[in-house]
Amino acid sequence: MLQDKDRIFTNIYGMHDRTLAGAKARGHWDGTKDLIGLGRDKIVEIMKASGLRGRGGAGFPTGLKWSFMPKESDGRPAYLVVNADESEPGTCKDREIMRNDPHTLIEGCLIASFAMNANACYIYIRGEYIREREALQAAIDGAYDAGLLGKNAAKSGWDFDLYLHHGAGAYICGEETALLESLEGRKGMPRMKPPFPAGAGLYGCPTTVNNVESIAVVPTILRRGAEWFAGFGRPNNAGTKLFAISGHVNQPCVVEEAMSITFEELIETHCGGIRGGWDNLKAVIPGGSSVPCVRGENMKDAIMDFDYLRNELGSGLGTAAVIVMDKQTDIIKAIWRLACFYKHESCGQCTPCREGTGWMMRVMERLVKGEANVEEIDMLWDVTKQVEGHTICALGDAAAWPIQGLIRNFRDEIEDRIKVRRDGTVQVAAE
Ligand code: SF4
Repeated sequence: MLQDKDRIFTNIYGMHDRTLAGAKARGHWDGTKDLIGLGRDKIVEIMKASGLRGRGGAGFPTGLKWSFMPKESDGRPAYLVVNADESEPGTCKDREIMRNDPHTLIEGCLIASFAMNANACYIYIRGEYIREREALQAAIDGAYDAGLLGKNAAKSGWDFDLYLHHGAGAYICGEETALLESLEGRKGMPRMKPPFPAGAGLYGCPTTVNNVESIAVVPTILRRGAEWFAGFGRPNNAGTKLFAISGHVNQPCVVEEAMSITFEELIETHCGGIRGGWDNLKAVIPGGSSVPCVRGENMKDAIMDFDYLRNELGSGLGTAAVIVMDKQTDIIKAIWRLACFYKHESCGQCTPCREGTGWMMRVMERLVKGEANVEEIDMLWDVTKQVEGHTICALGDAAAWPIQGLIRNFRDEIEDRIKVRRDGTVQVAAE
């Protein structure tokens, strides 16, 4: 279990003062000027050595991503854009940072922007996060008043402006290039890549888009050292991580833990166990709604990190939003509900996603009711494969994977429902 002294987020539950004075008392904004004084190359080097992988879902190494930014400006400004469009079902960790520990993020924005030669940073916050926006804006205003942002920010010699931009509530704007489109005032539709944002991003200028948590942990990593951070978790899966556990546990929560903790320890230590006990565990979606579900019996000893969940269980850590489902769950209906979500959020610009998400949702609806033929399960599988990897952005994959997870792990249950319906013995209804 992670000890309190090793927690980066010391006010994640909002129990303490979240103003600048409170943040300073907890050690934030301590020696920021000196951290910037390390210089760009050193900061990027430390971030690489820390092993931090992006906390927004893809798990790309953060330091490496920063190193893609041009070292010398060709006359265009550079930008850091923070992706706070946290909209995936089950994912609710960044909101706790923004409303309760906002100065971790603000200080991180300053240092990360400096490391990427950016004098301006935009935080793109989800439309529905109204209280979070208010809390974050109040913290930004406080930082400006204290001279930590603006000209000669934190007396570092670096001029830096931080803007908070409120989205309108579309999930697709969490895709980095759709986010940039939206920030520029257009419809949030993903761009074709290349060019990648580091070459031509916001307003055609070099841009890095990072998740809130990825940026918020930066100051503490620099203060405590790359070795400290790399000391948590297995190799290639370093650090501490916010886990957001929801569903059928006794106490759902958001908690900072060491990477590579086992699922059992995570649930027993922080969530008071599974509702009805471990024998009542049916399935877990370990990384936010877009990763495939895993059968409960395979999860108990699972190691909660990027590599284990992908390589051993065919799922993913994603955003570490852990959705727990017990045996009272209608898993087919649960996955159908996710299919509805992705159908609703598709931007519609590429055919496999626009048509496929609706098609998958409608077949799922029939599976919930048991009205389909058994052969349609294979047909549905084929459609998910035609969507996966054939779209401009990852929403197509995100829509396909939950259904693939369902068919892979609970095919027997789908078939049983069809048979029961056909034999007319039990009524199964989906609203
Ligand atoms: Fe839009 Fe879907 Fe294509 Fe992404 S995959 S660009 S959401 S249509």
